[in-house]
Amino acid sequence: MTIPEIRKDDYIVILTGAGISAESGIKTFRDSDGLWENHRVEDVATPEGFKRDPKLVWAFYKERYHQSHSVEPNAGHYALSKLESAFKNKFLLVTQNVDGLHTRAGSKRVIEMHGTLNTCFCTRCGRNFTMREVDITPDIPPCLYCGKPLRPDIVWFGEMPYRMDEIVSKLNKATVFMSIGTSGNVYPAANFIAIARSNGARTIGVNLQEPENSTHIDEFIQGKAGDVLPKLVDKWISVVS
Ligand code: NAD
Repeated sequence: MTIPEIRKDDYIVILTGAGISAESGIKTFRDSDGLWENHRVEDVATPEGFKRDPKLVWAFYKERYHQSHSVEPNAGHYALSKLESAFKNKFLLVTQNVDGLHTRAGSKRVIEMHGTLNTCFCTRCGRNFTMREVDITPDIPPCLYCGKPLRPDIVWFGEMPYRMDEIVSKLNKATVFMSIGTSGNVYPAANFIAIARSNGARTIGVNLQEPENSTHIDEFIQGKAGDVLPKLVDKWISVVS
C-alpha cells in the first residue's frame, strides 16, 4: 500500500460514509440493493415516508439507535481521532453517518451532516431532546414540552444537511481532502471532493472499491478503512511531531 505524503502545514478535511462503520458491525447502505437494513429508503428516510407511517419510521430508528450502542468504534474511527489530535485546528471531519461512533472514538472536530441517532426533535415546536431523556417506548414518542410528535434527528432525502456553510468554507481552505467508505452517490456530500479539488486540494479516496465519483480522486487506496487508516495516520502524524 502506498501512503500519500502529507505536509505539516496541510489543512485536512475528511468525509466518511457508512463504510467506516462496517467493521464495527453496522451494515452499509448500498451493499444490499439500495435497501437500508431491509427497508426501502423511501419508506424510512424521507419526510413523505414519515408522514405516511410514523410508527414504522420510529421503529426503524429505535432499532438503529439500540444497534449503534451495542457496537464499538473500530480502528478506523480511532485513527481519525488520533489524526485530529495531531493536526488540531487544521482538521475537520465531516460524516454522513448517524451512528455517533466518531464521537465515541474521541473525535471532537466532527460535523454530523446527516444528523444523529442520539437526538430527536419536535415536529411542532422544534425543541431538541436526547434519546436518553425521552421515553421512547411509545410508538410515536411525544414532545416533553408540547406533547406533539417527535421525530428522529436524521436528515432525510430531500432535506438540507446540517452546517453546510461551515463545511463549504472548510472545503475552500482544504489542501488535502480524503473520502473514506462512501459510495459517492448521496448528494451534496458526493460533491465535496470536486469542490475541494477545484480549490487546489489533493484528493485521496479509501474504499473497498472505486466509488462513483472516482474521477475526482488523485490517489486511491483500496482496502478496509480499519486496515488502511491506522497505517496512514501513523505516517502522517510523524510529520507533525
Ligand atoms: P453507502 O452505504 O452508500 O456506501 C458504503 C461505501 O463503503 C461503499 O462504497 C463500500 O464499498 C464502502 N465500504 C464498505 N465497507 C468498507 C470498509 N470496511 N472500508 C472502506 N470502505 C468500505 O454509504 P454512504 O455513501 O455513506 O451513503 C449512505 C447514507 O445512508 C448516508 O447518508 C448515511 O447517512 C446513511 N447510513 C448511515 C449509516 C451509519 O450511520 N453507519 C449506515 C447506513 C446508512
